[in-house]
Amino acid sequence: MNYKGQVLQVLQVLSYIKATLKWLNKAATMSTGPENAKVLVIGSGFAGLAAASKLIEAGFEDVLVLEAKERVGGRVHTTKPFTENIIEVGANWIHGQKGNPLYKIAKEKNLLSEGPSAMKNMCLPHSVSPRDYFFNEDGKPVPKSVVDQVCARFSKLTDKAFDDELDGKYRKLTLGAYLDDAFGGTELSKTEDARQVYEWCKRVECTDEACSSLYEISASQLSNYTELEGGFFNTLGPGGYQAILDVLLRDVPSEAVRCNAPVKTIRWDLVKEGQSEEEDHPVQVVCENGQTFEADHVIVTVSLGVLKEHAKTMFDPTLPEKKLSAINDLGFGIVNKIFLFFEKSFWPDDCAGVQLVWKEGPEDKDVYEDLSEGEDWKQTWFKKITGFDTVARHPTALCGWITGREALYMESLQDREIQEVCVRLLRSSTGWPVPEVSKTLISRWGSDPQVRGSYTFVPDGVDGVEAHKALASPLPPKHRSRGRKNLQVLFAGEATHVNFYTTTHGAYLSGQREAERLISYYSD
Ligand SMILES: Cc1cc2nc3c(=O)[nH]c(=O)nc-3n(C[C@H](O)[C@H](O)[C@H](O)COP(=O)(O)OP(=O)(O)OC[C@H]3O[C@@H](n4cnc5c(N)ncnc54)[C@H](O)[C@@H]3O)c2cc1C
Repeated sequence: MNYKGQVLQVLQVLSYIKATLKWLNKAATMSTGPENAKVLVIGSGFAGLAAASKLIEAGFEDVLVLEAKERVGGRVHTTKPFTENIIEVGANWIHGQKGNPLYKIAKEKNLLSEGPSAMKNMCLPHSVSPRDYFFNEDGKPVPKSVVDQVCARFSKLTDKAFDDELDGKYRKLTLGAYLDDAFGGTELSKTEDARQVYEWCKRVECTDEACSSLYEISASQLSNYTELEGGFFNTLGPGGYQAILDVLLRDVPSEAVRCNAPVKTIRWDLVKEGQSEEEDHPVQVVCENGQTFEADHVIVTVSLGVLKEHAKTMFDPTLPEKKLSAINDLGFGIVNKIFLFFEKSFWPDDCAGVQLVWKEGPEDKDVYEDLSEGEDWKQTWFKKITGFDTVARHPTALCGWITGREALYMESLQDREIQEVCVRLLRSSTGWPVPEVSKTLISRWGSDPQVRGSYTFVPDGVDGVEAHKALASPLPPKHRSRGRKNLQVLFAGEATHVNFYTTTHGAYLSGQREAERLISYYSD
């Protein structure tokens, strides 16, 4: 045999050894098949429940969901605080119909709202109705024609960003800078009323993006978000979002979900090549109370906010640099709802909401720049409230929306103080006889230790696709998996979805994606 032949033979033997090792490694992990694979799911939001139900449906018998809160659902929180009618403290609508798995479930199970309450939307520039009353701070109604023209213009401009049709010169700008330039060039922008409504539009867009300001998010990255056909606001019936959670829970035995079980540490890579006894598991999860669980695979679905706060200490060994960077780079913004309940309504019957328009609002470029440093913005936190919409099934309630650092600051105030400010705002803007508030329900998603925010956004200068993918990639990383058990720690959750981040369906699909990853691992 010549030299070349010998090299070839050695290579063949090496590749045989490699294949055998790979097989042995996999066989060790899978010594008893998927029915005995121990899978832990951390978190019981849509991502966690979708993962658990899909695995159980596929024949995985040892699946346990560990949930920190006393309830399931995470950022979906349907409550009945005061009457038999529900309030959604978190997610409210199903965004899009075609290709939306949650819309499909809701439709099939008859969970959607028909009737007039189905029409109850949050007031966004593209959904302003004649029944939305706009007032400026002097208490004057803003002419409807101005509102309509500015909102239509604003929607066209944001559509360009979502549809990836931005001019080259705008691609590197923040969304705020792009909009200012494009809107500033129009005749419309020359009137004061129009400029003030434009500021309102930007404030509302912050709610949609969960960012503190449009001057902090990327214009071109918006096109990575895919809007599904069939309307942005699909409303659920009297059971609310909880009814969809209940459908998923039907497939998950009650003993497979453990609430009040906050996870403190995820130790992984505990079993190396050659240590393949059946009882060895590569991952160990330790709860706050010291209870320990062993697993072959852990699917982590905690929010990006929780990862931002705990990722460095929660995992042992620490997460790879790329994943830590993604956690750091992506933004996790705050959107809060302020529900005000009155003894009786004081607004006209046709009113869908009161929208607040300022002379100098927080989304005016100059105001934004002036207030970017220091703490002065705290004095005018309430100017970040977009307005107060009427609430489905609660004819005497209004819901205010607030985002960003102002939303977080508001969380530090007492309910009474917030309600007084809101009543003052409503009185001074509308001039209507606004009575005292009888009850309030105010969300505090930023201070919630198990969530730490509302949903994900892509800050200026960040490559969203790369960051979402880095967040989603399982451990150990493929290129460094030699001699280590595969798919030890997997990641799901709204923030890990490249196209549907921010949404419930994004969360659900991400959970299914990780379940499928394990299913195909065991069936290959
Ligand atoms: C105010 C608001 C309005 C929204 N409106 C809409 C809307 O209209 N439509 C829409 O599609 N989306 C909306 N969303 C977004 C939507 O709610 C989320 O995208 C989705 O619910 C996220 O699901 P998830 O499973 O990824 O995360 P989560 O729901 O956050 O689930 C993660 C779970 O992990 C648990 N957890 C955290 N830490 C630990 C730990 N250490 N140990 C164990 N468990 C832990 C949490 O308690 C939580 O239950 C809204 C969100 C908010 C806050």
